[in-house]
Amino acid sequence: MLPIRDCVSKTPGYTPGEQPQTNDFIKLNTNENPYPPPKEIFQTLQTELDKVRLYPDPISKKLRQAAAKVFGVSVEQVLAGNGSDDILNIAVRTFVNPSETVAFLDLTYSLYETITKVHGANITRFTTNDKFELDSPIICSNAKLIFLASPNPPLGKHLNREYLEETCKNASGIVLIDEAYVDFSDDNHLDFLEKYDNVIISRTMSKSYSLAGMRVGFGIASTAIIEQMDKVRDSYNLDRIAQTLGTAAFEHNAYFQNIWQKVRQTRSRLITSLREMGFIVFDSESNFVLASPQWMTAKEFYNKLKERKVLVRYFSHPRITDYVRISIGTDEETDCLLKAIKDIMN
Ligand code: PMP
Repeated sequence: MLPIRDCVSKTPGYTPGEQPQTNDFIKLNTNENPYPPPKEIFQTLQTELDKVRLYPDPISKKLRQAAAKVFGVSVEQVLAGNGSDDILNIAVRTFVNPSETVAFLDLTYSLYETITKVHGANITRFTTNDKFELDSPIICSNAKLIFLASPNPPLGKHLNREYLEETCKNASGIVLIDEAYVDFSDDNHLDFLEKYDNVIISRTMSKSYSLAGMRVGFGIASTAIIEQMDKVRDSYNLDRIAQTLGTAAFEHNAYFQNIWQKVRQTRSRLITSLREMGFIVFDSESNFVLASPQWMTAKEFYNKLKERKVLVRYFSHPRITDYVRISIGTDEETDCLLKAIKDIMN
């Protein structure tokens, strides 16, 4: 018998969305940015490639400096992660002992459950109301860590700001606000960092900065929190290329802001069109929408779209059964999606 920890052998593990290794799909299943980063960011790459023999900067200093400037905090308040998933993992390992408690919503990013279970910690789940919104703060006196995504998947809407604030005020442990999708919305919670010393904001360059393939994310918090989390991260958690491209991308914020605007416009158009075609669609403040065709099952719909080389994510949960989550594509991709849907309906 292998000496595998019970909490590991009993956990099914995280299932990421499909990542086809061919280029023949319109890929709207894992919330990547449909627009590429500006070409200029690749200019600095050759210098880094010439140095692949050497280890990267272990503390990702330049990247953190660039991030700190954009987030309006000091560099000591930023930890760089190998994607924001790395930050979530580091948070569990920094603040939670095995058999202590991590709290999160019943409908949210499913990785919270996996990393908590694999760590051997317990889970307390909180249920949102009928509209999948918070209607009170999360009060969990024994939680060492509370994960709250805002905007929160799979719907993609912000959680109520006042209740979030009350949650931070009342928590005896750490509250991590996962802002993976925040750049596609009008609000963020960076201001909480000035008021609460138990808050971590996580951000990613995977979605709004078009760098999913590079794995760059951040934890932003008080220097006291970052100092401890820094001990827990892997020794060289971001490679040279990721650090360089991430740093360069932050120098092109105007380009990205323009893209965020475009994604939001396409999102409105897609929501309107889907509703006109009889779908139930939730409002979204993210770069995806959750929708259900009422004229066939979402599972069938997912398969029929896939046959037509459009890939979306099938989603079913006891509270929200039989939906698809559709990432916002370019206008051209959206036209192809809508055409494929019309074809399926006929
Ligand atoms: N948080 C949320 C809410 C997400 O949906 C995702 C994407 N799967 C992540 C974090 C992770 O993003 P990444 O590791 O690519 O930064």
